[in-house]
Amino acid sequence: MDAITHPQGAGDIAASERPLGTRFLVFPQPPFIPGYEKPEVVWIGSSAGPILAGPSDSRIYVANPVEPKSPYAAPYIPPYPGLLQPPAEPGPDGHFDHIGPGSPAFLSTHSYACARRVLDICESYAGRPIRWFFEPTLERLEIVPRIPHWQNAQSGFGFLELGENEPEGPTSCFALNFDAVAHEMGHLILLSELGLLEGDGFGSDFFSYHEAIADFISLLGLLQFDTALDRLLRRTSGNLLLHNELDRFAELSDEKQLRSLNNSLRINDVSQEVHDRSKPFAAGLFDCLVEVYQSLLFERGLSDIDPRKFRDLRQQMAPALMEEGLRASPASYERTHFAAKAALQEARDVIGEAVTRSWNYLEPDSLTFEDGASALLEAAWRGRGRVYIDQLEDCMRWRGIL
Ligand SMILES: [Zn+2]
Repeated sequence: MDAITHPQGAGDIAASERPLGTRFLVFPQPPFIPGYEKPEVVWIGSSAGPILAGPSDSRIYVANPVEPKSPYAAPYIPPYPGLLQPPAEPGPDGHFDHIGPGSPAFLSTHSYACARRVLDICESYAGRPIRWFFEPTLERLEIVPRIPHWQNAQSGFGFLELGENEPEGPTSCFALNFDAVAHEMGHLILLSELGLLEGDGFGSDFFSYHEAIADFISLLGLLQFDTALDRLLRRTSGNLLLHNELDRFAELSDEKQLRSLNNSLRINDVSQEVHDRSKPFAAGLFDCLVEVYQSLLFERGLSDIDPRKFRDLRQQMAPALMEEGLRASPASYERTHFAAKAALQEARDVIGEAVTRSWNYLEPDSLTFEDGASALLEAAWRGRGRVYIDQLEDCMRWRGIL
């Protein structure tokens, strides 16, 4: 009644009609992975202003070339100078979710929404806008959703461009692979926050740290999807150390190799090759996430295992968790599913914030994994990770990084 009779009633109605975001359809994992055949509706907020045809906004735009384009390589950088396909158009309601997997414009809307969402997630963990490292030379990131017959994905000075797997098929495009887009966004965001090398990076862990962070950002992005959280937790009855979606993680990324964050590699187990060397640190971050998650489960009476009683997660806590996992039935897990999901979301955010804010303490040219781990602990100490600080330190120490 108040809204009708009060003089400000009209303003209330206008406020309720103000657009709160724009809808897109996104596959959290490539659609050939069982359980992910249908895309999820994702809302992109209005932080970057209106989302117009393209899609395009004030930070990111899609350029979909008519001719087969060669990949960018300096000094060849955006904007793409050639003829472009017609832009993906929003529906009359301003949303893009009428564009589905069968539509020619879907690669554009899908790659845009994946990229935009990862940027929004990282900005929200950082607590402030993330400015592109290529500003002001280029104001916006250009996404090229498909380069035919190019089996790669890459990001660089003002661009993110996506090829396709061979043989060519309806789901072979990297633009449909959230992991691949999120991994490349991870590189762009880290370059923007950490800065560029002044030297060649020799003697530092700059490049392998980049790969570890890009993979972990892809994981943080995946864990924002309901489909992923629900499937992962239900399939493992809440035990993240069991084989799960994360094992398939990054299988189609630019590295073209199956990599898993759920591994027991220590820094002395790997070679100097950047992707190989990235694995212990990335897995250490994954362990930090599991430590926080298990702590929350214990504090909330959802697990009998107190992570603080174990010196390390991999050799000591993991067997106890496996044993607990064998005792639990899927039916008994189901009664606690939503509480477990809330714990996982909180653990994700505790570690996501610490990772994103740790970049404030790092210098690109002298960066080592030990610096990366120390900076993580510093950022966790200053945030809500403080109560887990000893556990996080143990995770990185066990990997041989600290
Ligand atoms: Zn990479």
